Order: sequence, then C-alpha cells, then structure tokens
Amino acid sequence: MESRDGGSERKLKPWNTLGAMLGAGVLAFTCAAGALVWGIVANLAEREFTQQETNQARTISTIIARDLGEHMLAGGGAKVWAEISTEARQYVEMAGALRLLAMNANGTVKAASDSVAVVRRIEFRGNPDCPGCDWSRTFPASSIATDANGTSRLRVVNPIPTSQACLGCHTGLETARGFIVVDFDLSPLARAGEMRNRIILGLGLGATVVLLALLTFLLRRLVIRPVTKLEQAMDRLAAGNLSERAGVAVNNEIGVLAGHFNFMADSLESAHTESTLLYKLVVEASKKLEMTDFAKNLCNVIQENLFPRQSMFILENSSGGSTCAISGEAGEPFMLVGDDPLEDALARESVIMHQLHSHSAPALLAEAHRTQKLQTLTEPQGLSFALPVVAEARMLGLLYCCAVPTRVLVSKDLLQNLGVHLMLAANNSRHYTGAITDSLTRLGNKQYGLVRLEEAVFAAKRYHTELVLAMCDIDFFKTVNDSYGHLAGDAVLREVARRIKDSMRKADTAVRYGGEEFMLIIPQISIDSLAKIGEKIRACVCATPIKLGRGLQPVRVTMSVGLAAYDAKTDSGQALIARADAALYRAKQGGRDRVEVDY
Ligand code: GH3
Ligand code: MG
Ligand code: MG
Repeated sequence: MESRDGGSERKLKPWNTLGAMLGAGVLAFTCAAGALVWGIVANLAEREFTQQETNQARTISTIIARDLGEHMLAGGGAKVWAEISTEARQYVEMAGALRLLAMNANGTVKAASDSVAVVRRIEFRGNPDCPGCDWSRTFPASSIATDANGTSRLRVVNPIPTSQACLGCHTGLETARGFIVVDFDLSPLARAGEMRNRIILGLGLGATVVLLALLTFLLRRLVIRPVTKLEQAMDRLAAGNLSERAGVAVNNEIGVLAGHFNFMADSLESAHTESTLLYKLVVEASKKLEMTDFAKNLCNVIQENLFPRQSMFILENSSGGSTCAISGEAGEPFMLVGDDPLEDALARESVIMHQLHSHSAPALLAEAHRTQKLQTLTEPQGLSFALPVVAEARMLGLLYCCAVPTRVLVSKDLLQNLGVHLMLAANNSRHYTGAITDSLTRLGNKQYGLVRLEEAVFAAKRYHTELVLAMCDIDFFKTVNDSYGHLAGDAVLREVARRIKDSMRKADTAVRYGGEEFMLIIPQISIDSLAKIGEKIRACVCATPIKLGRGLQPVRVTMSVGLAAYDAKTDSGQALIARADAALYRAKQGGRDRVEVDY
C-alpha cells in the first residue's frame, strides 16, 4: 500500500523518540530547578545570618556607645578606654564576634577587644573596609571582606552619637563622636554553608531521582505507552488490517486522539465493507442472472461479508410467484420456489425463519412489508435487519439478516446503498428469468434450452465428456384437453414438468420445447445407462395418476421418450435434436409410452 511507503515503515532513531526527548527535557528541567532552589536557599541563609549578626552588632554598639558616653561625661580619661576595652571583650565573647573596635572621629582606635588594635588608625575616606565611616551610608553599615590569610569576615559599623553635653570637652558638634566596628568571623557560616550544600545536594539528588522516577512512571503511563499503542494500531491499519483499533484508555488529549483514530478506522472499515459487499454483489449478480442462482449467490455474498447467523432473500418472479434462498452460518443456501404471491411467501418464510431461531424475523418482516422501509433491531447478539427491495413504490423482494455480529460495522447508509443495488440487480434478474422461463411449467423455455444445449455441446467437445439429449412428448395429450378442458390440461403439463424435474440431477436441464414436448439435456452420463435413464424419466410421469382438482377424476398420462448420445465427430446441437426427435418418433410409432435410443 502507498501509505506504508509514506509513513508506517519509517523507523525512528532512539534519540528521536518521544520517550528520549521527554526524558532529556525532564532531566534538564529537574537539574535547573535543583540549581535554582539551591541558589535561593544558600542566598537566603547568608542574608539571614548577615541580618542577625548586624542586629546583634547594632545592639552591642548602642550599649557600648551609651556606656562610653556615660563614662566620658563622668570624667573621662584613659581609664575609660581601658574599661570600654574590657566591656568590648565581654560582648565579643557573648556575641561570638571576632573583635570590637571603638574609634574616635579621626579613625584612631581608642578601645578594642583585641589590645593589638588599640592606637592604630583606620583611614575613613574611600576605605571599603570601614563602610559608612565617611558617612556615605546609612547605619548600620556592613560589608563582607576576606583578609590576607583568607579569613572571611562581616564588618558592621555603627556611629557613636554626639550631643550638647559632649561640648564640655570636645570643640565641634560633629555628626558622630566616632564609630564602633564589630567584626564577625564568617568561617562558621562558610562551614555551615558547605554542610548545607552537601545536605541540599543529597536531598536534591534524592528528590531528583524520586521526581524522575515519578515523571517517568507518569510519562510512560499517560503519554509514551498510549502513543506507542496508537502508533502500532495505525501501523497495522496502514498494513491493511482494517479491524485494528487503538485500545487507549487514558483520559487526556492522547485518549481523545485515539478516539478520533478509532472513529476514522470505523468509517474506513464500514466504507470498505460496503464497497466490498456491493462489488461482490454486482459481480455475482451479473455472473448468473437466473433468479434461483441470483438469490442463492446473494445469500452467499451476504454470509461471507456480513456474517449473519441467518440470512434470507426473497424475490418475486415475473409470473407472480416467488423465489427464496435461506442460508445459515454453515452450508449452502436452500431454495424455496413457490407460486404464491410475495406477501404469502413472506408470511410463510417468516415462520420458517422463526423456527430457525431468528426470533426477530416475523416482526421485522411484517413491518418492512407494511412500511416498505428498512427495519433494524439491535440486540446483544448483533444487528438484525429487514431490507425491502422496492422499485417504483412496488416491493419486489426483501433481504433479511439475523444477528450480524457487532464487530461488522453495518451503517444505515450501507444498507440503503445495498437496497438500491439489490433493486437494480433484482430487476435485471426478474427480466432475464422471465425471458428464459416458461410461465406455465416454470421450466426453461425453448430459447433457453437451445442456448444451454450449445454450451453443453461445446463442453462435451472440448472436455471429451458424454452428453445425452432426450426429447419427450406426452401421449394423446389432445384427449386430456378434450376430455377435461384446457385448464386441466395446463395442470397436467405443470405436474408432468415437476415430475420430470424431480427425476433429474442438478446438473441436468429440462425445458419445455413446445406444447406438450420437453427437451432434457443430460451431460456427463454413461452411454451404457441411456436406456435406463430414459426409462426412469418415462416411469416418473406415469407412476401415479395426476390429480386435476375438485370434481375431476385423477388422470393417468404416459410419455414417449427419444434419446440420442452426442457424437463429437458428427453432431451439432441441431443434429442431436434431430436424432433424439427421430428416436421419439420411433417410440410413438412403436406404440407410445416407451423409450427409444439413438446411439
Ligand atoms: P401424440 O401422442 O401423437 O403426441 O398425441 P397428442 O395428442 O399428444 O399430440 P397432438 O400434437 O395431436 O396434440 C397436442 C396437443 O397439446 C394440442 C394442443 O392443444 C395441446 N397443447 C399444446 N400446448 C398446450 C398448453 O399450453 N396447454 C394445454 N392445455 N394444451 C396444450
Ligand atoms: Mg403428444
Ligand atoms: Mg407433440
């Protein structure tokens, strides 16, 4: 199929599969999310630590500045700075700080928790190491710096406030009397950070694995498996398996897609069933137009394509009787040919169908006949329908199917189209059958017989098979007419025809050649048994008297038979008829009610 070249044979590279792409995407997303969380947590921890230490530094600075102010106002002197240094050491220990420096407005360290720092001077202007000392910032001012030996520290600077009282000793009323600097060692923070990083990394990895497993499970269940199923179903459908459907039960877009696919496959299968059915119907209907063959073949086509438990096709013939074929899951259709009108035949056949366990038949057939419209009945075992064959508002016949399995998609459109095709084919069959049938005896007529004889002669010549022709004539038939009337004569003709037909095999052909004359074509028969065959035919006609109806005595009729065996060297169809006729003449001459054979 073309579609196979187009898509379904295309093999995907492993890295192009949905699973690989989604997997890579999920992995990348998880890593990015992990890194982001990590960054945010680390940043938050550092900010929290800085905030906490800065607050602590401010508290200590305020206490020390207040104490310093009190001491200074109480007298001051070098002793004060020593006391402040002692106080600084206590607070540094208490707060877990690295050191505390108190310096005047010139940057000279006057007191410190670390005695080495005292008297040193710190340059204010443009010194990043003393943030805010040049009043460029609001307080508390803090910065993080790393010294020469790699120790990282947080420095918090707060001003020592000035007041009117200070003017007693100091000359200017500067913005601040100096600064208190508190340093915190950031090494513990760095260590905690490392520990935290390890924990975050561990937790992140664990969470990533769990998340990946969960996502993989969900992706497989909700996306990859349904998509794979859908892809496989499409592949098999493209390969020609039209009954293929995607069994995808997920309730997401893929489920909806699978639903659309299944609907499309339904339509495709239904259209395929319809086109196959109609194509076969047309082929079979044009192969054999004769009504019993047509009805039988139609039942076969229906059984092979729709698989009903039972099917029945009934068709009115051109002389008012009907031909009906009934078929089941197993075996050849059986035929019912009758003289009663379609309506009566339908009623009779619906009883037969009911007896064959097609319980819906009587109601559906009656309703279809009344409305002349398609009737359907959906039951757990399948769809039953009665489809009338209507031409110009007249019902010509009816197709009934019982329990077409649900796996066979039969839409109303299909049945309506089938109805139209059946109407055309049935009309053809009726006209053809009417043209080749003798309306009184229902045997083939002379024209039909001559065509069949030519076919039989051709086959015998080609395949070197035997062929026998019999010409039969009822003895003293004129007397029957004269004694009982022409209607009685007709009844005798009908009965003789029936008896002849019943005595013959399926492959044989009997036609009404003329008034009370019959021609029988008997292929593939042993020449040795010619006389026996002739005798059998003769005997079947006179075996019992023929009933003529109320008030009339049954009449016993006899028949003379002339037989001729086909000779490939000399015989044509016409020559064979002439030889059988000559044999019949001899039988008549010989006293009638007898058989003569021309070997
Ligand atoms: P024989 O034994 O020599 O054949 O005598 P016969 O009376 O059968 O032959 P004959 O040819 O004299 O008469 C045939 C009769 O068959 C004459 C005709 O009225 C009658 N017949 C022909 N066709 C029909 C028909 O369709 N219906 C009826 N009722 N009679 C028919
Ligand atoms: Mg006769
Ligand atoms: Mg005759």
